[in-house]
Amino acid sequence: MSTPRYASTRGRGPAAGIGSAIAAGLAPDGGLYVPEKLPQLDPSIFDPNGLLADTAATLLAPFFAGDPLADALPAICAEALDFETPLRRLAGDPAGHVLELFHGPTAAFKDIGARFLAACLRRLPRADARPLTILVATSGDTGAAVGAAFHGQPDTRVAILYPDGRVSPRQAHQLGCFGDNVQALRVAGGFDECQRMVKAALNDAALQREVPMSSANSISLGRLLPQMSYYAHAALAWWREHGSSLNFVVPTGNLGNALACLWVREAGLPVGEIRLACNANATLPAYFDGADYAPREAVATLANAMDVGAPSNFERLRWTFGGDDVALRRALCAEGVDDAGIRQTIQAHALGHHALEQDDVFCPHTACAVRVLDELRAAGNDQRWVVVATAHPAKFDSVVEPLVGRRVAVPDALAAMLQRPAEAEPLAADDEALKRWLRSGWSGQDRHPQARAAGVRP
Ligand SMILES: *Cc1c(COP(=O)(O)O)cnc(C)c1O
Repeated sequence: MSTPRYASTRGRGPAAGIGSAIAAGLAPDGGLYVPEKLPQLDPSIFDPNGLLADTAATLLAPFFAGDPLADALPAICAEALDFETPLRRLAGDPAGHVLELFHGPTAAFKDIGARFLAACLRRLPRADARPLTILVATSGDTGAAVGAAFHGQPDTRVAILYPDGRVSPRQAHQLGCFGDNVQALRVAGGFDECQRMVKAALNDAALQREVPMSSANSISLGRLLPQMSYYAHAALAWWREHGSSLNFVVPTGNLGNALACLWVREAGLPVGEIRLACNANATLPAYFDGADYAPREAVATLANAMDVGAPSNFERLRWTFGGDDVALRRALCAEGVDDAGIRQTIQAHALGHHALEQDDVFCPHTACAVRVLDELRAAGNDQRWVVVATAHPAKFDSVVEPLVGRRVAVPDALAAMLQRPAEAEPLAADDEALKRWLRSGWSGQDRHPQARAAGVRP
């Protein structure tokens, strides 16, 4: 295998190896790292009896070949992907399936990328003896996944920025429950502002010299690449059994999850059609309808982890098609689902088919994808579709429970987090405010002595 290099979407600056690209987060010119060329994979190289971690190790090997991290890749996959992502049938739709990505510690698919990134960073040598500060902007789920993945990791601090008042109460609790080396900052603004603040801090060379920083956002290749594994795992299993490809509907915000699905198809694995399910944030649906790409202000919706008006991975998406918008619009499509559609879908699926089955309760994000599939069915499409379930409905109990008229059981790991005390510092939605906070030193060391004394770990 040749050693792949990673270039910036903005095309300036030298290409890097995978380890350096993961360590850096953002490319020096402000662009996002992309492989110079996507590898082509043969479906027959994958172990038919392998677990998700085995599929991931085989899939990612060509991305890591020749890098110091390559030897550790199987161990990284085993450590990070130690839960399954089952494909189950969708009740009431004989050709419909749900790919459940929420069986990790924080009950959202973000665990997969966050844990993989943490497992890589733990193994990367650092020249700097000072602690590494990981910055993460979150619309709700990323922050908790990153916090859980890095909690207690020596010489590493995590600062989580989230839009105050725009995450669910349980998400907010999760974000603030870690303490120790993980600090939550509630920002008086939206997710796009949190993301802008993080980028501004990371791009500030002087600040970087004072406070060594990296990113854990979906702009990091260390999060994006492992997300390819569950698509490959599901699609390969289906292909072996039925000889056909799977089509996916992917709930989409920042485009990390959908891009991973697309890259699996571009790498030659049996993925068919891909549809992006967005909420009322219409940047992508408008673009795929033929309008020029135009980021907008994010609007708040029930599917808050998708409240993104400027999807950061769009740059990578365009790169994938060499900047050719016509080819890109042919390869994917996007539909928007408003809050009324989300509510209706949650209600219809909970009450419509198997009223007593927990399985048919969807989180608001997953509901967007289910809605897109329902509309395809209504239009006569009878193909094999997989709806990607990105979070457990119990994270969004305040939305979901009134709609379905019953309690949603809370997964054990989430229940344990909800029992810990939680705390977040307020921060203005201002680039300089974050930089000042980072410079003024870390104040979050001993915030939760109770949690530590009780020996609580994520
Ligand atoms: C982050 C998130 C999304 C959106 O994923 P992107 O990779 O940002 O497109 C969808 N659903 C849930 C539950 C999420 O946490």
